[in-house]
Amino acid sequence: MEKSGGGVEKVKKYYIRTFGCQMNVNDSQKIAGILKSLGYEPANHWQEADLILVNTCSVREKPDQKVLSALGEFKKVKNKNPDAVIGVCGCLAQRAGYELLQKAPFVDMVFGTTNIHNLPQLLKEAERGNKAVEIIEEIDERETELDRYPTVRDNKYTAYITVIRGCDKRCTYCIVPYTRGKERSRRIGEILQEVQWLVEDGVKEIHLIGQNVTAYGKDLGDVKFYQLLYAVSQVEGVERIRFTTGHPKDLDEDTIKAMAEIPQVCEYLHLPIQAGSDRILKAMDRGYTQKEYLEKIELLKKYIPDIALSTDIIVGFPGETYQDYLETIKVLKEVEYDQVFAFKYSPRPGTPAAELSQTEDGETVSRWLSDLINLQKEITFKKNKEYQDKTVEVLVEEEKEGKFVGRTRTNKLVHIDSGHNLLGEIVKVKINRVNRFSLEGEAVKVISEEAQLW
Ligand code: SF4
Repeated sequence: MEKSGGGVEKVKKYYIRTFGCQMNVNDSQKIAGILKSLGYEPANHWQEADLILVNTCSVREKPDQKVLSALGEFKKVKNKNPDAVIGVCGCLAQRAGYELLQKAPFVDMVFGTTNIHNLPQLLKEAERGNKAVEIIEEIDERETELDRYPTVRDNKYTAYITVIRGCDKRCTYCIVPYTRGKERSRRIGEILQEVQWLVEDGVKEIHLIGQNVTAYGKDLGDVKFYQLLYAVSQVEGVERIRFTTGHPKDLDEDTIKAMAEIPQVCEYLHLPIQAGSDRILKAMDRGYTQKEYLEKIELLKKYIPDIALSTDIIVGFPGETYQDYLETIKVLKEVEYDQVFAFKYSPRPGTPAAELSQTEDGETVSRWLSDLINLQKEITFKKNKEYQDKTVEVLVEEEKEGKFVGRTRTNKLVHIDSGHNLLGEIVKVKINRVNRFSLEGEAVKVISEEAQLW
């Protein structure tokens, strides 16, 4: 807080624009926690902000342009408020922070992925009118200081918890190991403490996240991911547990058994395959073959017959032929995922794959991608139709346009009609309409109260 001209205390406001994955979302929630502890409040619009932060991503296509165009817009905040601070953080800041400063010299603050805990000092520096820059290649040993801050979340009932940072894999297309560093698992006691805080704050669903969450504990040596699942399930008040992203190679039978045995672990898993062809999987250095991946899927379906699955796919990796692409299509048909996140390959500067030349032209790859998406739309619709007239459990997360909205344990979006306030409740819902990307139904019972609604 600072005194304005008339002596009235003016509360400073922040605005954060987040690009990219859930790790970035969670980092932004932690940044908001730090800012809250410094007396900042969220701004409704960037034009009202005293601090604008852009949390960047390096994984998807043309991130530099997207960030630069956002910064170009945010620069206007200084017309009205010359003291406003503009900052950039996240993977792109880590990889190309100094370049960004050259392209956008009005940026006041840049910090890397392991320097977030230093935000209070950086902010002080920027507020004095200096350029505040901290991008270090090595992992900052003090990064765990970040864990002490609470997250500021939009969603009151579900919360992310980062359990592992970085990644030891070296998928040839991926920039993450270079921007986020090697795997660092958080101590189990610290994670459980955070789970406890969240439950006390009203959270019902805990979502454990990491670039490679199934590698949790490898660097600690005395604990494995499945043990973390059991430990989290023992915290009173945890009603649901999810986790992403698991690497197929690190998903072991102990974890799958734990998923089946622990009542709170939801029947849903995102297991990226990226490509169906063994040749392309090898070129990507994914560490498994199609057969090995499908064996994991078989094991999951054996232990958890009603599991819903989703995956990531890259179409048009360098060297991919039509025959290779057909192997991916084959996997889609065989697994019948509930959801697929498919992207056209685009090179990331600094990765080994960026040195490889493209085999197919862009138009052909776009056609493959569009055919794949159309096929998956049909599969998703078919899977959704299985819900018609079924009664499912939904955690209601928000109210939107007169309907309550939540997710099933299998991660399906459900719109619910009810005259009762269902926010934050776990409810039985009878599905009476199935859409391509969501379900609709009516609430028949609030499970938390075990009371019939009518
Ligand atoms: S597992 Fe591969 S794709 Fe995932 S973060 Fe690590 S290197 Fe990137």
